[in-house]
Amino acid sequence: MKRKIILLALVVCLFLPLLSPPPVQAQGELAVLNSSAMAIFPSQLSFSLSAQSNVNITDIRLRFTIDQDSFAEVISEGYVEFTPSTTVDVSWALEMLKIGGLPPGATVKYWWRVTDASGKVVETAPAQVRYDDTRYSWQSLAEGKVTMYWYEGDDSFAQELMSATQQALERLAEDTGACLEKPAELYIYADSEDLKGAMIHPQEWTGGVAYTRYGIMAIGISPGDIDWGKTTIAHELTHLVIHQMTLNPYNQLPTWLDEGLAMYNEGPLGLAFTSYLMWAIDEDKLISVQSLSSPFSAYAEEAYLSYAESYSLAEYLITTYGQEKMLELLNTFREGSGYDAALEKVYGFDMDGLESLWRVYVTQRYQSAELAPPALVSAGF
Ligand SMILES: [Zn+2]
Repeated sequence: MKRKIILLALVVCLFLPLLSPPPVQAQGELAVLNSSAMAIFPSQLSFSLSAQSNVNITDIRLRFTIDQDSFAEVISEGYVEFTPSTTVDVSWALEMLKIGGLPPGATVKYWWRVTDASGKVVETAPAQVRYDDTRYSWQSLAEGKVTMYWYEGDDSFAQELMSATQQALERLAEDTGACLEKPAELYIYADSEDLKGAMIHPQEWTGGVAYTRYGIMAIGISPGDIDWGKTTIAHELTHLVIHQMTLNPYNQLPTWLDEGLAMYNEGPLGLAFTSYLMWAIDEDKLISVQSLSSPFSAYAEEAYLSYAESYSLAEYLITTYGQEKMLELLNTFREGSGYDAALEKVYGFDMDGLESLWRVYVTQRYQSAELAPPALVSAGF
């Protein structure tokens, strides 16, 4: 509790330079005296304002935009309820439950619009606040376009994860030609419980999450679970890079490609996934490429097979047709192309064509003589 108070005080201090200076004017006229913002992670972002005038202040609104990749700037407005008065101290909170939450490190630009009874209006200059998870004492490490934040584990733990991050970027560039176009931030929570505590709607299996439009990832990695952490970083980082480079207002990537590249960049397919793939081939239970273009099933068995097949589809396209074609495919999706049209343009076959060719490939690669029923193990995607 004590530590929390110190941290909150620190946050207030950090925002002092962001306070908007009151406009210069004749005494008694409408003026903003103070404006500030404070992160109460993960539930609220709280904004405060003091203002005065020689007549009653009658209307106060907070306007803000959330910094993320989009195709139109969305300005939101918070309407402050208060009793009209010549001096006012008000606050308004952006409730994360209402917007589904913001990732740690998200930036919000905000300004106030204050009106008094004489009809005078004052609008403050825009200020910025970072929605930091102030519950932990973060350390940071930067390399290239990636900044990593962590609070548990020593420097060598962080360094090892950063090396894995850079290697994952190199592998991705080699296989697909895709590179990080904008800075990325990676928050390492001490475990998945801490990570879930940082989210408004966590899933039971959440181990890592890429907030692709913010350039932010959050992953729960304890120092004793570093190998799992490295593959999870590779997975989420791939989502971030691929989303950054294909974002368009028309179409999303087919899920098999998005998840397939993320799985492929993790390294060789794990045993549990391989056994699902072998089982599905032998039992003639492979899910169609068409079905894998939509979000995957929530049922564990089907989800496992969906991820395994996606890995194999990415592997097939990369190892058979190479990096340049994959880059061309991603650039075609960036233009908003449909799934069949993009494949047709780059590879000369549509999704059904891909399915026929891939089935031959995957059967040769994974068909097994001795078959054991797949063992279900837990993992996060
Ligand atoms: Zn994924």
